[in-house]
Amino acid sequence: MSTTSYLSDRINSLSESATLKMTKLGRELAAKGINVISLSVGEPDFNTPDNVKEAAKKALDENYTRYSPVPGYPDLRQAIVNKLKTENNLDYDISQIVVSTGAKQSLSNVILTLINPGEEVIIPTPYWVSYSEMVTLAEGKSVFINTDIESDFKITPAQLEAAITPNTKLFMFSSPCNPTGSVYSKEELAALVEVFEKYPNIFILSDEIYEHINFVDNHESIAQFDSIKDRVIIVNGFSKAYAMTGWRLGYIAANKEIAAANDKLQGQTTSGTCSIAQRAGITAYNDGLASVMKMKEAFLRRRQLVYNLLNEIPGIKTNLPEGAFYFFPEVSAFFGKQDPDGNVIKGSADLALYLLNHGHIATVGGDSFGNDNYIRLSYAAADEVLVEALRRMKEALGNLK
Ligand code: PMP
Ligand code: GLU
Repeated sequence: MSTTSYLSDRINSLSESATLKMTKLGRELAAKGINVISLSVGEPDFNTPDNVKEAAKKALDENYTRYSPVPGYPDLRQAIVNKLKTENNLDYDISQIVVSTGAKQSLSNVILTLINPGEEVIIPTPYWVSYSEMVTLAEGKSVFINTDIESDFKITPAQLEAAITPNTKLFMFSSPCNPTGSVYSKEELAALVEVFEKYPNIFILSDEIYEHINFVDNHESIAQFDSIKDRVIIVNGFSKAYAMTGWRLGYIAANKEIAAANDKLQGQTTSGTCSIAQRAGITAYNDGLASVMKMKEAFLRRRQLVYNLLNEIPGIKTNLPEGAFYFFPEVSAFFGKQDPDGNVIKGSADLALYLLNHGHIATVGGDSFGNDNYIRLSYAAADEVLVEALRRMKEALGNLK
């Protein structure tokens, strides 16, 4: 029996996550003894801060080993409420917070909670790989607003308004953005809010997981605008800021109806996330900001390092990202060229595979982020690793004729 005949249409129409696929391919090559540098997965290279790890050990000793409430322990949700107040000046009640197994699950929960088949979700491109696939799983329709390096990958209010139809249910974006690093200023958000004010039935999913990795200013959340706050769903998590990718801890802050609906959905699918991770999360939020700031300093230094090195590669065009830990350089100058085996590079996926197999550096093609002319590199790696990675990249790209 062929797989397509018995797997659901839902799963057959789903693409594999390109970030995870490239990371898997990199690991497979490394398992063969090849020294591969992975700049594919977006994951801090730092260890989880010691005090957070200690909190987890203590939680085990105190037997936090049973089911937690589905939306999370009340004291974790309170720590999140406090964080939203002190860091973002936003007022929420713990009934508006639902903790999950990562921002990824929170995004998926929200989409499943809001989207009926055929309803439209507006997504600016480039977008994080999983957004459009989550919409497809919910049988919604992604409507893309294209941006490019010239506009610093940001949309204008006019572009937003032009994408809205009577079927639009949701707008989703990340700022700081994965994969471009672009950050919307308060003024830019205010201009988008003026459009949303005209369309009271549209919800806004604001993915703020990179809020602490912002090199331009204080983080600005679109939830700060009272006229639309009730329609904004903030998604955030511990993976990036606190180097806690493996712990699987994220959350939403939303109006009470949406929060209750997410709680119900989780209650039928995953239940509350890992009890130990939740206890560790309380310490991260109550006593972890100093570690975050240290990691941010390292990211800032590496951003400059990679920026300088990328600019030394002929054919590469890049902007200076304002946040997150990715570069999203334009690479279309290499399309149509041949690799040393005579294969033609037809697009960003081919280029990423070429860089992996010939340069031994794992990146991700921009096609999976909705823009084929680019590739994504994560710079969450040690300085010397980045220097070597960029040396390999320059050499490999120079071998394309
Ligand atoms: N949103 C964005 C923009 C991301 O880059 C990631 C990274 N995985 C996530 C959500 C999901 O993060 P988490 O590890 O919390 O699921
Ligand atoms: N968010 C990270 C990335 O974009 C982690 C991998 C994933 O979950 O897609 O690489």
